[in-house]
Amino acid sequence: MSMTQSVTARAGETRPMPVYINGEWRDLAEKPRILSYNPATAQPIYSMPDCGEAEVDKAVRAAHAAFHGAEWRALGPVQRGLLIRRMADVAVQNADLLAEIEAADSGKVLAETKRFASVCADYLRFFGELADKVTGDTFTPPQQGMTAFTKRVPIGVVAAIVPWNNPLWLLSLKLGPALAAGNTIVIKPSEIAAAPIIEFVRLVTEAIDLPRGVINVVTGGGATCGRALSSHPLVSKIAFTGGPDTARHIVENSSRNLADVSLELGGKSPALIFDDADLDNAVASVISGVFLGSAGQSCVASSRALVQKGIYPEFVRRLVEAASTLRIGDPLDTDSQLGPLATEAQLSRIETSVAKAAAGGARILLGGSRPEELKEGWYYLPTIVEVDANSHDLAQTEMFGPVLTVMTFDDEQQALDMANDTRFGLASGIFTRDVGRVLRLSDGLRAGIQFVNCYRMGAPMGPIGGFGDSGKGREGGIDAVRDYTKTITVWINTNI
Ligand code: NAD
Repeated sequence: MSMTQSVTARAGETRPMPVYINGEWRDLAEKPRILSYNPATAQPIYSMPDCGEAEVDKAVRAAHAAFHGAEWRALGPVQRGLLIRRMADVAVQNADLLAEIEAADSGKVLAETKRFASVCADYLRFFGELADKVTGDTFTPPQQGMTAFTKRVPIGVVAAIVPWNNPLWLLSLKLGPALAAGNTIVIKPSEIAAAPIIEFVRLVTEAIDLPRGVINVVTGGGATCGRALSSHPLVSKIAFTGGPDTARHIVENSSRNLADVSLELGGKSPALIFDDADLDNAVASVISGVFLGSAGQSCVASSRALVQKGIYPEFVRRLVEAASTLRIGDPLDTDSQLGPLATEAQLSRIETSVAKAAAGGARILLGGSRPEELKEGWYYLPTIVEVDANSHDLAQTEMFGPVLTVMTFDDEQQALDMANDTRFGLASGIFTRDVGRVLRLSDGLRAGIQFVNCYRMGAPMGPIGGFGDSGKGREGGIDAVRDYTKTITVWINTNI
């Protein structure tokens, strides 16, 4: 099956999506299908095959054959870099289309999905440029008459398991370095929002002549497709982004293939606001971190605001005032600043958690319910909840929604202790004008990404990753391609 048409869903239809295995689009009509919904309408817009062991096996074997095949091997790093940069061009040329598909499928607002379509291109270009800069080393061994060097070689088949909340960008973080290093790949998008990835791969395969099997895409549920992929004996690296509970399954699954595993997981990231902070900047940064664009469905969401006692009343007053003006609505409406939650299950989980917190004495300062006028979709109002202790469930559990907890601290040490008092360690925000304090906190905070007087910044050269339940390994940055290689050491007897 060739696929020349965009997957864009037309109003009122549920569009079937194919998978891409060994250079062919297959509709797999005989397989059970999973529905994917438009969260703004709660209507299904796509269906996809729930691939199991048989289809995953075909995809992995195709990637394995391509990895060892003459065609892919013949392409050196310079040519691979060019191919990846052409993929970046495809993302740029089709940014509007990709952004619309992602907004409808995931519920993130158009401004955000447009930004991330271009971010995806930036990352691919960056990795494309790194492809020919992966080098080994030489060293002088102690043994007489010996010389030695190391070289970096690709690992093999990479399984890229991607969540729904930023499919294109998170794919580029894996696809770029995987191909730059010379690996082949099997991509498993999230069953909640697979369409942007299917469309992007369709556009790439139409624009670029790749050896068959180098890129494959299989769709399906985590327990079916995801499990089969992460435990497949021919997979050599698993690059996973998602939640910590799923990560534990991935690690268990990988005990079968002993693949390299990188885990980019969730967060409960604190914003520390000190009494000398620029309050307007702190308010705008926290709001951008936890509400704007993705309705809090961001791994680095600034979901815990820790505020020094003296400025707490004023900070909270400004915060609530600013958050109450946010425009929540249809993600495809360019006026909307935040859209719905991605799934009904996520909406009801958040509703239950906030209601339970309120019943237990937490004070809801804003929101705490679905918006009256948007009952059709899975919307939840920007919500600010005051809790009296960092141990509160709402301050410890990743909500992955527009829910911000606020609480006070007395001094720097208490702020640091509260910030680190979580199983996560992905991001943090520090708001102060005191440089010494910034440096002390930076040393003490267990967070892989630290924003100072700003929030949610990023660029391809800045690695991301966390501590604890936020995962292991780093993605992005100049060293990222190396993580998709293995080192070989060569010993040469120069006397012969
Ligand atoms: P999820 O863990 O539910 O799913 C992620 C992927 O794993 C999906 O493709 C899913 O089908 C697959 N999966 C599920 N069960 C599996 C299994 N048993 N074996 C193999 N694969 C399986 O996550 P989600 O709800 O899609 O995404 C939200 C989570 O992702 C949040 O925790 C968020 O913080 C995190 N996230 C982290 C980053 C980061 O860079 N650190 C970025 C974005 C999202």
